[in-house]
Amino acid sequence: MSRVFNFSAGPAVLPEAVLRQAAEEMLDWHGCGMSVMEMSHRGKEYMAIHDEALADFRELLAIPDNYQVLFMQGGAIGENAIIPLNLIGRTGSADYVITGTWSVKSEKEARKYGKTNIAVDTSTGGFLDVPPMAEWRLSAAPSYVFTCTNETIVGVEYPFEPDLGRIGRGDVPVVADMSSHILSRPIDVSKYGLIFGGAQKNIGPAGLTFVIVRDDLIGHALPACPTAFDYQLVADNDSMYNTPPTYSIYVAGLVFKWLKAQGGVAAIERQNIAKARLLYDCIDASGLYENRVAKACRSRMNVPFFLRDEALNQAFLDEAKAAGLVQLKGHKTVGGMRASIYNAMSMEGVAALVDFMKDFERRHG
Ligand SMILES: *Cc1c(COP(=O)(O)O)cnc(C)c1O
Repeated sequence: MSRVFNFSAGPAVLPEAVLRQAAEEMLDWHGCGMSVMEMSHRGKEYMAIHDEALADFRELLAIPDNYQVLFMQGGAIGENAIIPLNLIGRTGSADYVITGTWSVKSEKEARKYGKTNIAVDTSTGGFLDVPPMAEWRLSAAPSYVFTCTNETIVGVEYPFEPDLGRIGRGDVPVVADMSSHILSRPIDVSKYGLIFGGAQKNIGPAGLTFVIVRDDLIGHALPACPTAFDYQLVADNDSMYNTPPTYSIYVAGLVFKWLKAQGGVAAIERQNIAKARLLYDCIDASGLYENRVAKACRSRMNVPFFLRDEALNQAFLDEAKAAGLVQLKGHKTVGGMRASIYNAMSMEGVAALVDFMKDFERRHG
């Protein structure tokens, strides 16, 4: 068996130790004679797995007591509808900060449920930066301000936390799509009203969606909100109103344990900074590769880059694959290449990529 270095944007690489443990426990979890997949979600074995995953997630992000953690389904794209269904009824409108492909999608979806105001739109600049909050054109009474703090496709990450208190609008809750950088760096949860994302980038298998939501934002769902997606009901039932994605939650729980063993989010951030620096330095020092994102806003998780000679794209991908470096093709809307280097991607993997890129440039540049 040989494992490749997998730079997929998602579903993405998982820690090998986690996969091994899941494999060992596949047929018989802790002596109970069955797989986690086969357990009733109401049984004491699964309930223990569920509660421990929730507790570890809370601990890793230091989530304050006045926030609920919900394990849901439907992905981040599902939440693009579920969030306005639950929150927009408070004033009937919401503000959207558009900094890339994902926030574009979120705003389009929200229009079905209320009025949206575009507070920022960097599309004309090609989605290369995040304007400071002083430049955001917020409306008078939005139910929330929507942000996507790491734009997975264009590789733009906020260089600041969107703390509206700093521009005198601390009364407005910030919603943040953190699908692709949750747990990659410490955050101050108390600065947000709601944080959400799909698990399949930096947490675990697809199928699990996490929502961290402040208590006072729960209980305002529009009448049309599907029952299974009403935050009040989900919270009141400890994320078990309907059957949760039990196996995904189990694996996520193993990832949380792995992350704690690495030293937690602050320790993994140091690794992420070092990994990203190695790759961006290689790109910046090269005559062949190029990244166009404003330096301060470059994502530590998703690194898009272009070959100045696009005719070399296929050779790059083929030779990378032969060297055991896979899933490097950029998103179809952007082109070029993209290396996603989530928590579970080792420094060794990034170093192997950088060595390959330098060698490729020597041979073809
Ligand atoms: C991957 C991703 C999504 C889409 O998530 P799904 O789970 O496919 O719905 C949304 N937002 C961001 C920032 C993402 O990275």
